[in-house]
Amino acid sequence: MSERLYYNNSYLFEFDAAVESITQKDSYYEIILDRTAFYPESGGQNFDCGTLDNKKVSGVYVGDNDAVVHHCEQWDAEPGQKVSGEVDKKRRISNMRKHTAQHILSQALLRVASADTVGAHLGETESTIELSTLKLTEENLRDAEEKTNEIIMQNLSVNISYSEHEKLAKLGVRRIPDRHGKFRLVGIGDFELTACGGTHCAFTGEIGLLKIIGLEKIRKNTRITFLCGLEATKDYYLKNKVVEKLSNRFTCHFDNLENSVNKLANYNGDLKMEIGRLQKEIFPYQLQKLKEDAIEISGVKIISIIYADYDLKNLKEMALHVAKEFKSIVLFSMDDKLIISASDGIDKDASFLTKLFIENFGGRGGGNPAIAQVGGIPAGDIDSMLEKFTKLIKKEFDRV
Ligand SMILES: [Zn+2]
Repeated sequence: MSERLYYNNSYLFEFDAAVESITQKDSYYEIILDRTAFYPESGGQNFDCGTLDNKKVSGVYVGDNDAVVHHCEQWDAEPGQKVSGEVDKKRRISNMRKHTAQHILSQALLRVASADTVGAHLGETESTIELSTLKLTEENLRDAEEKTNEIIMQNLSVNISYSEHEKLAKLGVRRIPDRHGKFRLVGIGDFELTACGGTHCAFTGEIGLLKIIGLEKIRKNTRITFLCGLEATKDYYLKNKVVEKLSNRFTCHFDNLENSVNKLANYNGDLKMEIGRLQKEIFPYQLQKLKEDAIEISGVKIISIIYADYDLKNLKEMALHVAKEFKSIVLFSMDDKLIISASDGIDKDASFLTKLFIENFGGRGGGNPAIAQVGGIPAGDIDSMLEKFTKLIKKEFDRV
């Protein structure tokens, strides 16, 4: 079993060890050492990166008999030989901050909302904890975040100790493990005590800052996403930039930003309704012009128009209306959609024409003989597409 050097010193980034075994796989080697400072992927914490004898370590995991397995793509030392290891300091310290912050946040949530942590994942940037409750309020999160940051600022010492299972309850350990035996305990001042095998900061002040950035319900649990250290300040910087730009754009204090955006969204909705109403109102006056501008094939007017921005429902009503007013085939397009309408009595009806269009130009859709719609038309020159389609319609009429 490999001696885990990080258990008693999370700040050991360089070490010497002897090679115990080498297993060659297809494209990599699995190296086991007599001792290691590399943290293997476990307990929701990412593995350490770094090098062994200048060979890149691209994975560290727990193997059989609790051995720490180092995954290297290149290797040349023999069993028994001494090697020197170097742990990626930046990545390890970032993990230590996240891990220590997670312990404090879990304890804070337990205190402010009686919420039990049932799982944790410390990601590359964002980290999460899962709680066995669905009842967390925004106020709970605010209180827990504040409590966590208070503990960080108190710069409490983080202490490692060991204890037997039967003593854990008496010591006040949070989340007592199911299995028995001796446990490594991580204490944060007298605020928090948990059994944990991960790497942590020596003092809470090293975390810098914790910020909760998300909450989601998952089955019967709640998952909270948080950032800490420099990742939290970066997030603050980016969000502050957005708020600052929007506040300038709306010429208001950020306190009033939500109100201003809601007002604008409501105003936009009212305007859309008004535009729709006006489109309907002016439509009868456009009919005559549509008739005059249309081309005629075998006594049927072909009306083909491209719209940039129009209420889709109104567009359909209008197409039906035109087809009722005079003998016509109506092709109204907007974005990636095409509305097709055909007057009663034309045997090349809207269903037939829709099929003809899709066969030749793509898209999908359908409808009835009076009106149909094609959607998802491949991007391209819609003007020439409609021109070609009109020629195809003419061919169909000529065929009769
Ligand atoms: Zn831990």
